[in-house]
Amino acid sequence: MQPYSGNDIYCDLIIPQKLEVNIVAETDKILAFYHTKPHWEVHIVVTPKEHIASLLELTATSASELLDVVKEVSKRIKEEHGACRVLTNLGSYQDSKHLHIHISYGNVIGSIATS
Ligand SMILES: [Zn+2]
Repeated sequence: MQPYSGNDIYCDLIIPQKLEVNIVAETDKILAFYHTKPHWEVHIVVTPKEHIASLLELTATSASELLDVVKEVSKRIKEEHGACRVLTNLGSYQDSKHLHIHISYGNVIGSIATS
């Protein structure tokens, strides 16, 4: 992948499919895919296709659609591996200001920065 120096890799590259990602689940509104630089053994990112800056800007309607996919993917990981974690970052922990939920399993394999 080319180094990305913009502010919102989701709206700029991933959602318009200018950057190829390995899709795990997709609806009209939501995309779930394997992180291109995983921090854990299994690392999936779930993001709304509409620009929503962070969890704090999420409305009830969008939350419902997003959580349906988060639940579906995390259920799959839990069934396959016996455990998973679900997290989202805010403020200085959130390096791309487009809401995304991390679903992960296993040990840290890289820099556990934010992204
Ligand atoms: Zn965006």
